[in-house]
Amino acid sequence: MKITDTIAAIATAVNNQGIGVIRISGEESFEVADKIIKLKNGKTIKESPSHTINYGFVYDGDEMIDEVMVSIMKAPRTYTREDVVEINCHGGVLVVKKVLSLVLKNGARLAGSGEFTKRAFLNGRIDLSQAEAIMDLINAKSELALEVSVGNLEGRISEKIKKLREVLIYHIAYIEAALDDPEHIDIDGYSETLKGAVIEVKDEVKKLIENADDGRIISEGIKTVILGKPNVGKSSLLNRLSGRDRAIVTDIAGTTRDTLEESINIKGLRLNIVDTAGIRDTEDIVEKIGVERALETSDDADLIIFVVDSSVELDENDKKILGHIKDKKAIIVLNKSDLDTVVTEEVIKSYVDKRVITTSALVDNDVTEITDCIYDMFANGLINFNDQVYITNIRQKDALIQADESLSKVLESIELNMPEDFFSIDIMDAYERLGDVIGQSLGEDLVDEIFSKFCMGK
Ligand code: GDP
Ligand code: ZN
Repeated sequence: MKITDTIAAIATAVNNQGIGVIRISGEESFEVADKIIKLKNGKTIKESPSHTINYGFVYDGDEMIDEVMVSIMKAPRTYTREDVVEINCHGGVLVVKKVLSLVLKNGARLAGSGEFTKRAFLNGRIDLSQAEAIMDLINAKSELALEVSVGNLEGRISEKIKKLREVLIYHIAYIEAALDDPEHIDIDGYSETLKGAVIEVKDEVKKLIENADDGRIISEGIKTVILGKPNVGKSSLLNRLSGRDRAIVTDIAGTTRDTLEESINIKGLRLNIVDTAGIRDTEDIVEKIGVERALETSDDADLIIFVVDSSVELDENDKKILGHIKDKKAIIVLNKSDLDTVVTEEVIKSYVDKRVITTSALVDNDVTEITDCIYDMFANGLINFNDQVYITNIRQKDALIQADESLSKVLESIELNMPEDFFSIDIMDAYERLGDVIGQSLGEDLVDEIFSKFCMGK
């Protein structure tokens, strides 16, 4: 695909800061810039050397608009691999907008969102996973998220996927070659070798799929639900966690029913508290819709914090909740420890083996025991994230799931002693789906691979 038109946009945040940058990219970048910029050294932008920063002025006809620094970068060593001009304006928001409109009047088109990055992809400078990493980077909401997206931008996903694809293509090529040239390439007993390789690739794909949840947690946050009966102290706990008085603690019915979304930062991890549990609602959800349905709403949570009033015996609902959270990431908070307690850690442990934290929202403002516990549960698993590859979006995860399915089919065909060309269709499909992760479609490159790896001499 050849893209020719020249695009432009404000590349910095549009607020009243000192400098605003307008980026222009495309075949006519230099021409467009030359129409509105006079460099101090008298040269045109077109004749200036690449990768230089030049002092000059922007003109609208005879009227001088701004004093600027102009970065000139010739293709292909640029962000988009096209000719790029960046105009650093000094004159504040209005001037930046004025300069942009001049650029647009003189032949450039306003860039769509992400269009520079898209060009970098289409022009082959980065692959799709890197392009997505750039988006993640821009949207990073925590430090961990930032580090992961930087890793992906460096091509961590691409590297991994490419390695897996290489394995698959080797086998596709081998089978093709063997079918074409059975005299010289032996396929007897080959399915055992193939089976081993497919299982290995499949394991790696599985790992990536499993990690995708961690990837999502890193980039978006831990989806957390606080469960517990009315008046056990859920709102109080939330207040302490967020260090603010956002959730209103009250004894009065129906004080407020606004939905509540609280996001808490724990050493770089984001905890997103979802109000499915009706934390702010005096008719708590467990009462209102029954414990079964309340539990359903917490099914897709990454973390459940179950708050118990330790001064009151556990009832059937509590026991149901305890049963439900057996296989989930959950913490049990025994609240109201300032009162005479009847529910102890031992009692809880007789139902579930989870971390139990005893506290009193009334007398104890320190929540580090709880936040440390959450950090341990999640970050320790993620702590080695430097060696790991994290898929952070659904599109990539879906492609991996499809690849995994195709690999399962390959294994089935092997088990059933199907003919070889049966395998190669599914291996090919897995190869393509993996390619989808990094936005690579096969075509000529596959054909080239096949013939380069197996010189058939004919
Ligand atoms: P929720 O309905 O589960 O959200 O519970 P709230 O946080 O609104 O608290 C209900 C009532 O219990 C309020 O009057 C709180 O002041 C009180 N409460 C909360 N935590 C404690 C605690 O640790 N000890 C005592 N004695 N009272 C508490
Ligand atoms: Zn509440």
